[in-house]
Amino acid sequence: MTAQRLVIVGSGPAGYTAAVYAARASLEPIVIAGSVTAGGELMNTTDVENFPGFPAGIQGPELMENMRQQAERFGATVIYDDVQELVLQPGAHKITTALGESYTAEAVILATGSAYRKLGLPNEDKLSGHGVSWCATCDGFFFKDKHIAVVGGGDSAMEEATFLTKFASKVSVIHRRQELRASQAMQDRAKADPKIEFILDSEISEIHGDDALTGVTVRNIVTGEESPLDVTGLFIAIGSDPRTELFADQLELRPDGYLKVDGRASLTNVEGVFAAGDLIDPVYRQAITAAGSGCSAAIDAEHYLSNR
Ligand code: NAP
Repeated sequence: MTAQRLVIVGSGPAGYTAAVYAARASLEPIVIAGSVTAGGELMNTTDVENFPGFPAGIQGPELMENMRQQAERFGATVIYDDVQELVLQPGAHKITTALGESYTAEAVILATGSAYRKLGLPNEDKLSGHGVSWCATCDGFFFKDKHIAVVGGGDSAMEEATFLTKFASKVSVIHRRQELRASQAMQDRAKADPKIEFILDSEISEIHGDDALTGVTVRNIVTGEESPLDVTGLFIAIGSDPRTELFADQLELRPDGYLKVDGRASLTNVEGVFAAGDLIDPVYRQAITAAGSGCSAAIDAEHYLSNR
């Protein structure tokens, strides 16, 4: 068991930005980055065009690699392991990892982000990796010249659909309402793409296939009419939920499931436990706002530690 001043759980823009600030404040933070999720959701993104400082855009994985290097340059230690258990006890919060390491920490910053939402349909899990996917950049390549469906009407769905046109012969975006939720710029880009069709006021009612996806049934929500759609790829882009399972029974959550913090600050209801990023943000959920809240959490943690 090693005793630390600060342990940061999570390595998206929130976790790494917290690490940069905390390391520069000489707190020598440990970042438990995740074994397969290190770098967070931006690792599954291609062009990031709205992160300030990159006028020509930057690839998501490159941005995260830069953040990691920046944190390490100032003395953060990044560990590619998963937190298995967290016992929050002021003064010495206890963290145990999947590889069997144990730490105590005077302060903890939680930046565990969010997890992709599922449709909740039979066959969805079974065919995951066999036609059903949550990551176009990871799996799009497998659908060269195929007809693909994307579910969702937000920025993620537009981004996935646009990206998938590189491979697919056709992309059908299925959205449950008439209006899209996505930003105007991303809607416009998708609507201008001749390979993308929109199936609106509709949802997927069934996912078909035994070993691999063979198609879906689409139900029009207004008329109730059902029709088959012969797709071999289904990309689900219907948002995400905060990843609170490690500490949901120890920290106060909001009614919508996000972790509750004290106003604009990052303090949770347990002394010495701070939070940042998508975990506390049901509204903005951008890389830049996550990075900003990681900065706030590190400053709050530093004030807390220097007052102890
Ligand atoms: P989102 O904005 O929450 O959109 C989720 C979409 O999925 C909505 O259109 C929603 O429909 C639909 N949906 C939710 N649950 C569903 C269900 N069970 N069945 C069918 N449809 C369902 O999520 P997101 O698109 O992942 O975006 C999350 C955040 O990341 C946003 O703030 C977004 O701006 C940001 N983002 C930004 C970029 C970028 O700027 N490059 C790229 C990706 C994401 P309704 O509209 O009817 O609610």
